Amino acid sequence: MQLEINNLSKTYTNGVRALQNVSFTINQGMFGLLGPNGAGKSSLMRTIATLQEADSGSIRLTGLPGEGDLDVLTQKDAVRRVLGYLPQEFGVYPRVTAEAMLDHIASLKGIANGSERKAIVQGLLQKVNLYDVRKKNLGTYSGGMKQRFGIAQALIGSPRLIIVDEPTAGLDPAERNRFHNLLAEIGENTIVILSTHIVEDVTNLCSDMAIICLGQVVATGNPADLVKEVSGKIWQKSVEKAEIDTYRQTHRIISTQLKGGKTRLHAYSDMPLAGFDPVSPDLEDVYFTKITERMEVATV
Ligand code: ADP
Repeated sequence: MQLEINNLSKTYTNGVRALQNVSFTINQGMFGLLGPNGAGKSSLMRTIATLQEADSGSIRLTGLPGEGDLDVLTQKDAVRRVLGYLPQEFGVYPRVTAEAMLDHIASLKGIANGSERKAIVQGLLQKVNLYDVRKKNLGTYSGGMKQRFGIAQALIGSPRLIIVDEPTAGLDPAERNRFHNLLAEIGENTIVILSTHIVEDVTNLCSDMAIICLGQVVATGNPADLVKEVSGKIWQKSVEKAEIDTYRQTHRIISTQLKGGKTRLHAYSDMPLAGFDPVSPDLEDVYFTKITERMEVATV
């Protein structure tokens, strides 16, 4: 099974070019779509989820067991039958219990048999670790519990394509961990797209990824390979805050981070930089290298 996105473009009526010739292929397993706020992630996720039209380009879901290939942009009903979606803004009805809400969504998804529905709902509540609080109203849930409920509703009907848009924003570290473990369990025989601006989410979970920025794809591939590409090209130095601007004028600074009262600069360069030490790069260095490159092109 593969999701093939080809030359997808979208310009909103206000003139914002949210997607510009976006192309990449997503295989089974956990795929990370990484990009800063405003990159176009949600626009792309909503288009794949059949909730929004594109101006041009195509999206195909191929190799679906028991079905032919699907044209996502035109065969919306067929796509919706195999889709699980956790949107960025996931509202819940505060005065409904998790159990009743899941039961309701399951009947909307066409699971007509009451006892079958009950078995599915109980199984999902256990899977997302909300079984003990299944009779509590959703309005009383914490952020992490709501997100896990969101995953439970997205999993109803055994979807083959699951989209989760910014799922860990606003979760505390323990809740985030629990959510990561839950997502990692889904992976097999499905395509899971995790859209996020948090590099660590992708580092922890994804075997394949794309980075988008200002509507364009700036990198795709396996995180380890992408890290290898910048290996030997990232350099660091601790400086005083007041010096940062001077360094920006003379070096390609990709990130600045406050560490013990001083600022740690990371710079990109093919050659060693005087006064800087070599760093063994991580995915964050890849991310900032690609993002700053795209931003520079956009401002020229
Ligand atoms: P992300 O999810 O990566 O933060 P979005 O897809 O939400 O990015 O937004 C991409 C760009 O499109 C942003 O500049 C945003 O302001 C703009 N945008 C998103 N939705 C709309 C809309 N409905 N109308 C106009 N502009 C929009």
